[in-house]
Amino acid sequence: MKRQNIRKAMMVVAVLSLPVTMFYLSPLLTVQGAARGIVTSSLLFVGLAAAASFVLGRVFCGWLCPGGAVQELLFPANDRRLKGGRPDLIKYGLATLWLMAIAALFIRAGGLRVSPLFGIEGGVSLGSRTSYVMFFTAMGGMVALSLLAGRRPFCRYGCLLAPFMIAGKCTSRAVGSPRLRLAADGERCIHCMLCTKNCPMSIDVHAMVQGNAMESPECISCGACVDSCPKDVLSFAFSSGRKPSLPERRSSGEGQTMP
Ligand code: SF4
Ligand code: SF4
Repeated sequence: MKRQNIRKAMMVVAVLSLPVTMFYLSPLLTVQGAARGIVTSSLLFVGLAAAASFVLGRVFCGWLCPGGAVQELLFPANDRRLKGGRPDLIKYGLATLWLMAIAALFIRAGGLRVSPLFGIEGGVSLGSRTSYVMFFTAMGGMVALSLLAGRRPFCRYGCLLAPFMIAGKCTSRAVGSPRLRLAADGERCIHCMLCTKNCPMSIDVHAMVQGNAMESPECISCGACVDSCPKDVLSFAFSSGRKPSLPERRSSGEGQTMP
């Protein structure tokens, strides 16, 4: 559990640093910048997060995201598991609309200028009266949603950044590139369900193990399932996940019996 304690400590630091960092991740500031033809730090961050997810998946969500941390720190108040399925699609619709809006605004502005500190006075997010209003509105909404719905509802249904990181993960998987992923030795599973119970993203990890399908777009690589499994069924791996082809298996001697 040492890893989970480190993760929790990192989440506390992420929440405490919100007054400085919040606008560097703000989709609203991205829109305001696009209206003036300005590429903000928040837009640069979307590109950076998508590129990093090609190799690291959604590690940022599980370990560093202040919004995710706020929601997870509220688990003692409500840690009800969320339903997947159609509600998961909401975030893709929101991200598509957001992307179309900023593309249209950039076209209308007729220019493109990079200004990482646009809208962030002195490099600190909470630098003006307006910023306090935005801060308490965003945090209030996130806290209320978590208290009402349960585990990380904003991450699962409403985050605009998540679809870009999921796209990075899926692209990496499609091209067979090595990446951080979960692995499982299903034969050792004793069906205690602790992995599923402890997943902050409400993923049915046990079903993934049983189906030998260890990749979920919602997985944030937090390691809670790995660290709670009593039989060491789960682990992190850095691999493409590609099964070797028959000629590759033959050349490595797999399946051959000793004379
Ligand atoms: S599947 Fe495991 S690593 Fe992924 S989010 Fe759930 S607990 Fe974390
Ligand atoms: S925690 Fe481990 S042993 Fe228990 S159900 Fe999950 S994979 Fe199986």
